[in-house]
Amino acid sequence: ILQDQFLFFEAENGAQAIQILQEHPNQIDLILLDISMPVMDGKEFLQYKKRLPELDVIPVIIITADDSPQQQISTFTLGANDYIMKPFIPEVVTRRVKNVLDSNQRFKEMVKEYNHMSERAKTDRMTGLIDRVSAEEMISQLLAHAVGASIMVMLDIDNFKKINDTYGHDYGDKVICAVASKLRTFFRKEDMIARMGGDEFAIFMEDISDTLVAKKKVDRLCAGLSDIQIDGAHTDITCSVGIAVTSEQIHTFEKLYKCADQALYHAKCNGRNMISIYGEDLTD
Ligand code: GH3
Ligand code: MG
Repeated sequence: ILQDQFLFFEAENGAQAIQILQEHPNQIDLILLDISMPVMDGKEFLQYKKRLPELDVIPVIIITADDSPQQQISTFTLGANDYIMKPFIPEVVTRRVKNVLDSNQRFKEMVKEYNHMSERAKTDRMTGLIDRVSAEEMISQLLAHAVGASIMVMLDIDNFKKINDTYGHDYGDKVICAVASKLRTFFRKEDMIARMGGDEFAIFMEDISDTLVAKKKVDRLCAGLSDIQIDGAHTDITCSVGIAVTSEQIHTFEKLYKCADQALYHAKCNGRNMISIYGEDLTD
C-alpha cells in the first residue's frame, strides 16, 4: 500500500528491527510494528526502544488483528502512536501513516524552534556575543568554582551618542558590531566576552591575577581599535576601560562588576580613552 511513497526496511522480529535502526541512525521516520513475533516481540521491542532516546523519538504504529479494548489500551500504554487493523483498508492505512508522520514532523519542528530560541536567548542578537543575563549567570558559576584569581574588563565606547547623532543609528550599530568582532579576535577562546548593553562590553578572564598583563593586552586592543573601518573608511573610535581583579573581598559577580564599573567611570572622568584599574588607580 505504501511502497510507492516510502523506502522500507523489513525485520522479522524486534531484535532485527533494533539492528536495522542502529545501522540507519536518523533515517527512519516511522515504525510499523507487529505484536506477535519470534525472538523479541512487539511489546519487548517497544520497552527496549523507550530506553534509547535516539530511538524513542521515532513514532510507532502497531499492526494488529485484535481490536479488543485490552489490546487498544496496551498499544497506547506501551507508547505506540496509533494502530492499524488487519485486514488492511488501504485508505485508512495511508491516512493513519500520514497523520502520524505529520504530527511527528510538527513536533520535531517545535523542538527545533525551541532549541533555536533558547540558543538565541543566550546571545545578543546584534553582535552574537553573550548577553548580560547569561554573562551574569556564567560568570557567577565560574567564580563559585574558581581556584585562582580572575579579571573582569569593562569597556565602553567613548562619545558613542555623538557617533549616533553624527552618522546615524545604523552606522552606530556597525561600530558596535565592529568592536564586538575586534574583541572576539583579540581575546583567547577561554575568555568570556559579553555585550552588557548599549556600547558597553565585559571580558571575563579566568586564572589571571596580574592586572598589568591585562592592562597591556587592553592597551594593544585599544590601539587596534583605530584599524576599524566602517563602510571602507577609517573611524576614530576610542574606548574607556575599567579593570578589576577578584580578591577575598571581591568574589561575586556583583562585586567584581561594580569594581570594574567604578574603574570604568574613573577612566571616563579622567578624559576618556583611558584604562583604570580598581585598587590601583582608585580605591573605595
Ligand atoms: P561616554 O563617552 O561617557 O561613554 O558617552 P556615550 O556618548 O558613549 O554614551 P553612553 O555610553 O552613556 O551611552 C551609550 C549610547 O549608545 C546610549 C544610546 O543612545 C546608544 N545605544 C545603545 N544601544 C544602541 C544600539 O544598539 N545601537 C546604537 N546605534 N546605539 C545604541
Ligand atoms: Mg559610551
